[in-house]
Amino acid sequence: ITKNKTDELIENDRQYLWHHMSPYKENVPPTVAVKGSGSWITDINGSKYLDGMSGLWCVNVGYGREELAEAAYEQLKTMPYFPLSQSHVPAIELSKKLNEWLEDDYVIFFSNSGSEANETAFKIVRQYHQQNGEPSRSKFISRYRAYHGNSMGALAATGQAVRKYKYEPLAAGFLHVSPPDSYRRPKEQTVEEFNLQCALEIEKTIVWEGQETIAAIIMEPAITGGGIFVPHPIYMEKVQEICHQYGVLLIMDEVICGFGRTGKKFGHMHFGMKPNIVTMAKGLTSGYLPLSATAVRKDIYEKFKHSDEYGYLRHVNTFGGNPAACALALKNLEIYENENLVEQAKVLGERLYQELQVLKDHPLVGDLRSFGLLMGIELVEDKESKEPVAPSTIDSIIADCKANGLIIGKNGATVAGYNNILTLSPPLSSTDGDIDFIIRTVIEAISKVD
Ligand code: PLP
Repeated sequence: ITKNKTDELIENDRQYLWHHMSPYKENVPPTVAVKGSGSWITDINGSKYLDGMSGLWCVNVGYGREELAEAAYEQLKTMPYFPLSQSHVPAIELSKKLNEWLEDDYVIFFSNSGSEANETAFKIVRQYHQQNGEPSRSKFISRYRAYHGNSMGALAATGQAVRKYKYEPLAAGFLHVSPPDSYRRPKEQTVEEFNLQCALEIEKTIVWEGQETIAAIIMEPAITGGGIFVPHPIYMEKVQEICHQYGVLLIMDEVICGFGRTGKKFGHMHFGMKPNIVTMAKGLTSGYLPLSATAVRKDIYEKFKHSDEYGYLRHVNTFGGNPAACALALKNLEIYENENLVEQAKVLGERLYQELQVLKDHPLVGDLRSFGLLMGIELVEDKESKEPVAPSTIDSIIADCKANGLIIGKNGATVAGYNNILTLSPPLSSTDGDIDFIIRTVIEAISKVD
């Protein structure tokens, strides 16, 4: 691309394109990606970056997979669209394949995004309770700090005030409880005690609200976008127990944790959980095309299948389960399987975590957390008070990584507006060399600040 064309594109970007979730910065032009291969992208100026966030935690099999493009192309040529009020071959095959991945009996409702997958889950849950003789069960419980999507219901489920308060009122009926943030637990508590207490807060909420009003709990296996909070197994065990005890359904948001990211096919599998509903998106197509799924256990589906003519699910999604997206997803799942990427995520994640342990001695590094190939580095001004570092510190580390060819993320979204947790979520297909590069670059960048 010539210099003139580059300048024109940048100018038009500034004029016409509204960037997602980003403040407009007059003097910082956006990174305009033009090409990708493996874990690396090339921008419009020819600079290369290792994408340590897999886009938005989604390009799990890496960039440049021609076989994915071909799968979509072949499907577009033969049957580009047909609504799922009827059926088409890639959707049938993909729903069967997802059932295999979930290792249990689910039916699949397809949409286009994680937010829609969660919205669909909320509607299914409310209608299910109505048709199951418990119409007063309408409320959802989720955790503070979690992110579940941008739409009025999924945002209501989200527990990050900074993303919500300008858009309220959101959908009604969403309650929040404390996240199991073990790093900030009271000093006198063990991790187990604290996690148990967090789970018991859910029980308290159910009891105080009236168990007959609670429809479901929605949670990720580990809070990801809120800052990588991995629960102690005791927490998840208790959650599952509470759900059974109070007749509350469990919706597992696997939008980030699904498809190998955590070192198992789905994050909840680390805890032996049996969610009633599993939502997924991102890694389903590795971001190559939009597609999401709401997997619903058969016993719930039965209440829709064998109802009167008014009892079916009144929910349609024009593009949900587009044939090309489904065909691409099938090919994508084949890549995970053929290249053993779920296991690879575990191995690479362990190495990343181990080799970044040297950062623990750094005065600003409060905590290092990992879950498979997901990593959070929490930065604090002071290890005793755990006061988050100033945004400018985080921004300078991110800028330093970028200047050296590495894209990393920042997350957190606490009430104060701090995003004090550096995040890493590179493609599962990353090479050993890619992981070495991430380790080196992150350590160097953090070492420069104090
Ligand atoms: N759930 C989780 C856990 C997410 O991280 C996200 C997006 O980041 C969503 C849901 C929403 O997905 P989407 O942006 O595809 O609507």
